[in-house]
Amino acid sequence: MKVARLYDAADIRFEEEPIPKVGPGEALIRTRACGICSGDVMGWYMKKKAPLVFGHEPAGEVVEVGLGVTDFRSGDRVFVHHHSPCFTCRACCRGEFVQCPTWRTSRIVPGGMAEYFLVPKENLSGDTLQLPADLSFADGSLVEPTACVVKSLRKSGLQAGERIFIIGLGIMGQLHVALARHAGAESVIGADFVPYRREKALQLGADLALDPTQGKIEDQLRDHTKGEMAEVVVVGPGSIEAMEFGIRCAAKGGTVVFFTTSTPEAMLPISPYYLYFNEIRLIPSYSCGPNDTRDALRLIREGVVTAEKFITHRFPFSALHEAYRNAAEARDSIKTLVEFL
Ligand SMILES: [Zn+2]
Ligand SMILES: [Zn+2]
Repeated sequence: MKVARLYDAADIRFEEEPIPKVGPGEALIRTRACGICSGDVMGWYMKKKAPLVFGHEPAGEVVEVGLGVTDFRSGDRVFVHHHSPCFTCRACCRGEFVQCPTWRTSRIVPGGMAEYFLVPKENLSGDTLQLPADLSFADGSLVEPTACVVKSLRKSGLQAGERIFIIGLGIMGQLHVALARHAGAESVIGADFVPYRREKALQLGADLALDPTQGKIEDQLRDHTKGEMAEVVVVGPGSIEAMEFGIRCAAKGGTVVFFTTSTPEAMLPISPYYLYFNEIRLIPSYSCGPNDTRDALRLIREGVVTAEKFITHRFPFSALHEAYRNAAEARDSIKTLVEFL
């Protein structure tokens, strides 16, 4: 089978390797679609993991199941989560699935950017979901990114009637817009440098999309909210500057979600005095667990998230390099999907 192995952001190679053998409790999937994630194009992050067959937003068709598998059979259309927890450890019992040691070590083999991939036992029993007949593989590829936003909003504590400010309107920012609107936010405000993305956010239900070139965004937000700012601020970019902006944009008693990691070396200067008297919570939200993927699939079924709304570019697997460039440029695009025919 053909796989795409990343050695560096600028060095992705098509390679041939054997189709994985299926063991007891496992399944082999023929990949039909796989999204390119914002994380996949974060150069320093991928370099740490390289070489690897990247792609963790796959949907496909079961072609073979191992001994003892009864929940799936050949021909089933599925979403597969690339990580799955054990459901029994201390972290799992608290619902902190991403902190489960099994979640960290379980993974699909070799990855989503391959013609076939193997689903280990944990992932198959723990977080592989049947795609209903009315959903496409492209819809299925949106389960994982949507689930990350389900988790982020859950951790943010966003309540109906509150104001949310979303910094960065790439795919994850746009999903925050749609899900916050669906959750009954009173006001949804975004900010992004790219006009196309601001326009898209308005189409998806944002009330306002701020342009950072038109003055400091915290000043713009202050003007638009009569000084009240936002009860929930989601910081999309992993830059210290964006995190600092985010803290200044939070209302008193508000919550700031750090949705993307910084580099390991970066340090964030914060004023405990400011946080204390304004009672501002800082909440990191990393990836998602099996509870979030189930909620995400429900939202996709309800039409809150659909491939039609969010996937702006589709490329065949053979044009992967072009797809990767398109996602990395992050200009007039929202979600880039790779399709396998
Ligand atoms: Zn992702
Ligand atoms: Zn666990």
